[in-house]
Amino acid sequence: PRDPSLAEDAGELAVEGALRPGSLAEFIGQHKVRRQLQLLLDAARIQQRPADHILLSGPPGLGKTTLAMIVAHESERPLRLSSGPAIQHAGDLAALLSSLLPGEVLFIDEIHRMTRSAEEMLYLAMEDFRIDIMVGKGAGATSIPLDLAPFTLVGATTRSGLLPNPLRDRFGFTAHLEYYETAELEQVVERSASVLDVTVPPVARAEIARRSRGTPRIANRLLRRVRDYVVVHGGDAGSATEADVSAALDLYDVDAIGLDRLDRAVLDALIRRFRGGPVGLNTLAVTVGEEAETIESVVEPYLVRIGLMGRTPRGRIATPEAYAHLRVPRADEALR
Ligand code: ADP
Repeated sequence: PRDPSLAEDAGELAVEGALRPGSLAEFIGQHKVRRQLQLLLDAARIQQRPADHILLSGPPGLGKTTLAMIVAHESERPLRLSSGPAIQHAGDLAALLSSLLPGEVLFIDEIHRMTRSAEEMLYLAMEDFRIDIMVGKGAGATSIPLDLAPFTLVGATTRSGLLPNPLRDRFGFTAHLEYYETAELEQVVERSASVLDVTVPPVARAEIARRSRGTPRIANRLLRRVRDYVVVHGGDAGSATEADVSAALDLYDVDAIGLDRLDRAVLDALIRRFRGGPVGLNTLAVTVGEEAETIESVVEPYLVRIGLMGRTPRGRIATPEAYAHLRVPRADEALR
C-alpha cells in the first residue's frame, strides 16, 4: 500500500538513514518500550544467547526499523533486513532462514503481509530453530528437517490485529509504539537539525514539532523542507525563523495541526459527502481514491488520536472538532 510519508527518493532515504539514532540511549521518547527492550537485551547478553523474538507494532514512521537496527547494534550481532511482501513463497523464507549467521537479528517489516505458507514455516523456525523442507509432490512427498542457527526475529507491523494468533504468540515481547508528544518531537528536530547542520531556534522547532502528526519521520521530513526554504530564501546565516517554518510547510500543504492533504480529504469527505457519517471504511477509501489499508493504518489512527474522527460499530464519524477544524458549520448548529 502507498504510505504517503514514505514517498521519498533515494537521496531522501539516505538522509533518513543518517538521522537514525544508533542506540537506545539516543532514541527519543517511548520510555516504557525502551526500558523493556533494554532488560531483554541485558538478560540475553548475560546469558550469552540471542534475545527473544520481538514484535513492534504501530503506525509508519514511529521508529520500528530504527529499533530493530538498535537491537542488532546493542547486542553486537549482524542484522538482516527483509519484509513480508518480499517473502511470497515458503521457499523464499527457507532460503533466508537457512543463510542466517548464528545469533543474527532478522528484521521482517510488514510481517502481516507474508503468505500463509511462509507464516507456517516461521512458527516452527521461531520456536525450535528448525524448518521442514517439502520435497516432491503428492503421495511421494516427504519433508526434510533442517536445523537453523539460533536467531532473533524482529517483526514490524502497522496492523497487529491482522497477525494470526499462533504467530503473535511466538514473540517473547510485543511492543506497541505510540505517537510522540510535541516535546519529544522537538527533541527529534533538535537532534536532526544538528546532524543536518541547520540552525532552528526553539520557537521554529516547536512549530515543526506541532505539525509533525506525532511522527518522527514526518518531523525529519518537514525539517528538510524548512532547510530547503532557508537555503533558497536565505535568512540570517542559515537560521530558520518561525515565519520560514510556516511558509515552507504551507507550501507543502501541511496545515497548522499537521494534517496533510489526505487527512483533510478524508475529513472533508466524511463531513460534506456523508454528513458526518457513520460511513464504512471502504466507502470512505473509494471516495478519496486511496487504499483502505492506507486509510486504516496511516490516516485514521492519527485523526482518532487527536479527536477529529470517531469509530463506531456502524462506521467512521466526524467529531464536532473536525467540523470546527474544517470551518464547516454543523447542520444542527445551522438550525439553531
Ligand atoms: P518505521 O520503521 O516505524 O516506519 P523508522 O524506524 O524507519 O520508522 O523511523 C523513521 C525515521 O524517524 C528515521 O529516520 C528515524 O531516524 C526517525 N525516528 C524514529 N523514531 C525516532 C526516535 N525515537 N528518535 C529519533 N528519531 C527517530
